Order: sequence, then structure tokens, then C-alpha cells
Amino acid sequence: MTQRTPIVGGNWKMNTNHRTAAELTRELAGGLERVGGVDVFIAPPFPYLLLVGAILRERGSRVVLAAQDVYFEPDGAFTGEVSIPMLQDCHVRSVIVGHSERRHVLGEHNETINRKLRAVLDAGLQGVLCVGETLAQREAGRTDDVNRMQLQECLAGIDAEHAERLVVAYEPVWAIGTGRTATPEDAQNAHHKIRGVLSGLFDEHVASRIRVQYGGSVKGSNALGLFAQGDVDGGLIGGASLKSAEFVQICQAAAQSARGA
Ligand code: PEP
Repeated sequence: MTQRTPIVGGNWKMNTNHRTAAELTRELAGGLERVGGVDVFIAPPFPYLLLVGAILRERGSRVVLAAQDVYFEPDGAFTGEVSIPMLQDCHVRSVIVGHSERRHVLGEHNETINRKLRAVLDAGLQGVLCVGETLAQREAGRTDDVNRMQLQECLAGIDAEHAERLVVAYEPVWAIGTGRTATPEDAQNAHHKIRGVLSGLFDEHVASRIRVQYGGSVKGSNALGLFAQGDVDGGLIGGASLKSAEFVQICQAAAQSARGA
């Protein structure tokens, strides 16, 4: 079995301000200094990328600076959008695409997400593709079909070489920000199926190397149970990523899950 380094991401969403973003970054850089065996990224809001990146560099932190979204065109008349060259200029190395809030609140479709992801991977950045079913889809027994369709459409035209920089985040929409978490067994089941789809799209070897994070109300107290599952390679964390001690605890759980593997 391929040994995958777990990966934990903090999605700050539309939270923090100049002062609290700086404080949180300093606390995380300090708290994660001695936590090894796990890759960590944090995705602050666009206006704080430079600030957060500067603090991470000043601290010599291994935490990777990520963005919550991007637009696929390199420049031009796209009011309100942010391009990949702009993110690179801010030292961003990882980009989340297709988050469920972008899909369901802001109306983003698989085709747009695919264009964004291709642009991110083409630029040599890490792309974190979010997929996951709504409560209605889950109750209709469509979880695996929805994940398969999102993966197929969002990964169209992406080759195995680009997939080296791909991370998939399985985030059941009903679990995001709700306090409801998938059981470790349900998460493992969905992740295993997702890896099967990745095998079909690329091949088994490539699929065995792609990290699949779980996201949806992960906390310090439930992280280890989820991350201990064979196909769960860490987590994408929303609410709990705004509390430094809790986020550090989640990263420690991911590191521990890898040691126990
Ligand atoms: C997320 O925003 O990706 C997320 C999983 O949020 P939360 O951890 O708050 O459920």
C-alpha cells in the first residue's frame, strides 16, 4: 500500500480581520513548529494573503499558504476576480476549488471548477478539489453517483502528471458547519469509492498517491477516528481552523494516524 503523508487544511472562509489573521497565523506557526509527518496549509481571505504569508516566512514555518478560490483567466476585464499570477505574486502554493459554498451559495458549476482546477495545476500549484453530496442527495441514496459525477466533470482533461499536484476533499454538504460529522465508517466508504473513481480516471498507482481529505465539522475530539481510516488522508477544516489550539490538535491527530498506519 502506498504511504501517503496526511494533509490538513484550514479554510478560514470570510472570517478574521487584519489583527486576528496575524494573531492566528503566529499562534499556528508556533503551535505547529514541532508537529511533523503531516502537510498543513491555511487559506485566509484574499486581503490577508500577503500578511499571513509574510508571517509564515518570518517564522520559517512549513505551513503552506493557500487561497480559497481563483479565476482561470490570467488577467483582463473580470471585475472582482483574482488570477493565478496574482496568487503566485503573493506566494500562494495551493488553491481550493469547488468548495460547496461556492457551488451552492455562489452557483458555481463543474465546468467552471474544471477550468479553475486545470489552470491551477498547469501553473504548478497544488489544487484541492472539493466534492460532496447534499443531504437530499444522500437521503436519495445518490452519494456515490454525485461524487463520481463531480470527479469526472471536474477532472476532465487532467492527466496523470498534473494529478501529482491534486488533493481531493470529500466534504458532505450536510456536514459542513453543521456540527454533524460523517461516521468514520461512512467517510471511509465514500473515500474508498472516490479512490476507485480516481483509479478509473487515471490508474491505480496514481490514485493510490492522491490524498483524499475529509471535511465537515472535524474537531479535535473526532479527528483521529476519521483520520485513522485507511483512505482518509487528513482533513479540510472550516470552523475549527479559526481556533489555533484546536487546529493544532487536529494536525497532531493526522500525524498520529500516519504513525499508526
Ligand atoms: C469547510 O469549510 O471546508 C468545512 C469543512 O467547514 P467545517 O469544518 O466548519 O464544517
